[in-house]
Amino acid sequence: MGFSIPAASRDGSDVSDATTRFQLDPSLLDKSLDCVHCGLCLSACPTYRITGRENSSPRGRIYLIRGVAEGKIEMGDLVAEELGLCLGCRACESECPAGVEYGAMLEKGREAVAVSGLRRGWGHRVEDFALGKILAYPRRLHAVVSILGRVQRLGLDRLAGMLLPFIGHARSLLPRIPAASERRRLPAFTPAEGERRGRVALLEGCVMAELFGDVNRATVRVLTRNGYDVIVPQNQGCCGALHAHSGDVATARRLAEKNIEAFGSTEYGPVDAVVSNSAGCGAALRETDQWLPGRGEALANQARDVCEWLDEVGLRPPTGAVPARVCYDDPCHLVHAQGIADAPRRLLSAIPELNLIDHADPHSCCGAAGTYNLLQPEMSGKVLAPKLDALAAVDPDWIASGNPGCMLQLRAGVRARGLAARVVHPVELLDRAYAKSKVAEG
Ligand code: SF4
Ligand code: SF4
Repeated sequence: MGFSIPAASRDGSDVSDATTRFQLDPSLLDKSLDCVHCGLCLSACPTYRITGRENSSPRGRIYLIRGVAEGKIEMGDLVAEELGLCLGCRACESECPAGVEYGAMLEKGREAVAVSGLRRGWGHRVEDFALGKILAYPRRLHAVVSILGRVQRLGLDRLAGMLLPFIGHARSLLPRIPAASERRRLPAFTPAEGERRGRVALLEGCVMAELFGDVNRATVRVLTRNGYDVIVPQNQGCCGALHAHSGDVATARRLAEKNIEAFGSTEYGPVDAVVSNSAGCGAALRETDQWLPGRGEALANQARDVCEWLDEVGLRPPTGAVPARVCYDDPCHLVHAQGIADAPRRLLSAIPELNLIDHADPHSCCGAAGTYNLLQPEMSGKVLAPKLDALAAVDPDWIASGNPGCMLQLRAGVRARGLAARVVHPVELLDRAYAKSKVAEG
């Protein structure tokens, strides 16, 4: 498909007014000019592959964003729909030879869509409420998840799902809510095991803390087993990634401020790194300097994904065996946003008797993309389908992926396809190997 100008701007005239125009940072505007329309990103873009539409491609969306910023394209439903349909997976950035910073442009574009009042429909209203009034406040989130757990135990979610298809779909993605005892905050300090190598702080996360407490606890055990004291600042909060992706950059900045303070001066002294086990949160931490220039650099520079950190400092090899066939599936916000692909594979390969097998589609998006699988269920399902085909073809025992949204989406997909594989975080497999090492040593 050739490159064509969207209908909204065909006459090239200035169609915006003061309320629909928005500012792209000059450097970002310059960067957008770097797009030479080569089209190398198109085949990596899931929404372009499915629709075949130029407007649903990275190149088309860059054109739309730039056009609105220059006042040549109206900020209207066409722009809002195409930016909403984008997964934000940033696979296009990995392919782009010109270094176009698509993710930063998308964030700005979505902020403009939100400011223009174009996030229409009850789905967006529910999302805005959930992100702004619940997710940003750990205590409120904890209370809401507790209520959801009770609703699940009473079977009311099944009933509601039968009456309302949207709830039925959301229910298919939501795991069993862990018991309250599994959703306790992590201890503020856990000492290193064996010879001490240093001290790291851990981002507990909001979704991770509520739904994946077992992964968080495994992360602490693996880090301490590798000689690191683990500090969990108790005043930390949500990373703000989902807010920024939905266009609420103001809330994302407010949350980032809170984390700069929480991680900037822990009561246990300076740390060697701020570690995250969620790819989406880690990517957000790394962008703190872009959200808060002059304030966020230290946190951005210290941010490390847990697999990246263990690989960087040198994993203490586990001796316990995990005899299983494992597929690693790359979270987009690890491979495309942070450029980390080899570290998790190297760690998994260090586990005795673990057979790391390739599948044909590890680098493309699973369709989770934050809240995308709730707001765009049809497209999300189409994006996930080829990945499930690739996984089914090799039929692993485990699928490892380091992001909560990806884990939920893959679990739902594996269940729907009737595959036997279990979906885990890579640190859970390391933790399992270390636990077996201890039994053997004991
Ligand atoms: S690969 Fe980069 S330069 Fe080429 S069309 Fe895509 S965004 Fe533009
Ligand atoms: S972020 Fe993903 S879906 Fe959006 S334009 Fe880039 S490749 Fe396509």
